[in-house]
Amino acid sequence: MARYRESTCRLCRREGLKLFLKGDRCYSEKCAFERRGYAPGDHGQLRKKFSDYGVQLREKQKLKRMYGLLEKQFRGYFDKADKQKGITGSNLLIFLERRLDNMVFRMGFANSRTEARQLVRHNHFLVSGKPVNIPSYLIRPGDEVQVREGSRKVERILEAMGTISRRGVPQWLEIDKANFMGIVKTLPAREELTMPVREQLVVELYSK
Ligand code: SF4
Repeated sequence: MARYRESTCRLCRREGLKLFLKGDRCYSEKCAFERRGYAPGDHGQLRKKFSDYGVQLREKQKLKRMYGLLEKQFRGYFDKADKQKGITGSNLLIFLERRLDNMVFRMGFANSRTEARQLVRHNHFLVSGKPVNIPSYLIRPGDEVQVREGSRKVERILEAMGTISRRGVPQWLEIDKANFMGIVKTLPAREELTMPVREQLVVELYSK
């Protein structure tokens, strides 16, 4: 499967924003963005002026990298969002949020979306009682995501559950820690997604 070859922390530095791609490290002094909050490369410290296209492109790259997607997958979500009723940009964000790997991360069963993806692939979760190992599986309102009984001693899951308070659980999810379960009460409204993204610029980029 295709994947990014660039160092993960360089992605944050490139986008000028902490994307929280590395779990614990992102909250520690080792965070590369905290230490060198400028773009990577020889000219990283020079102030750049982007064209309109450049600004739109950076916004798209930021969002794509936040969710750990490659261009083709990301474009696929955009096309689906565009066909739906409502505001395309908001639809796009909600599609991204509905991915199972994102839900596992949001519910606090993993420290990053990358880790969540691995855990899902390794078959550690049930969705409404059925095993699902597809990270892109789209969750619906009312679905329950639960750690399988045999996986409840997996250290990475326990560790993540122990540190969830530092980022909090969104209002539209409900967590039942005792049963290793998260319930999707409803899909998020745009204003509940607080990451700094201007999705309208992504729509403008793809609408050219
Ligand atoms: Fe980004 Fe996390 Fe690396 Fe910091 S540690 S630069 S937030 S991936």
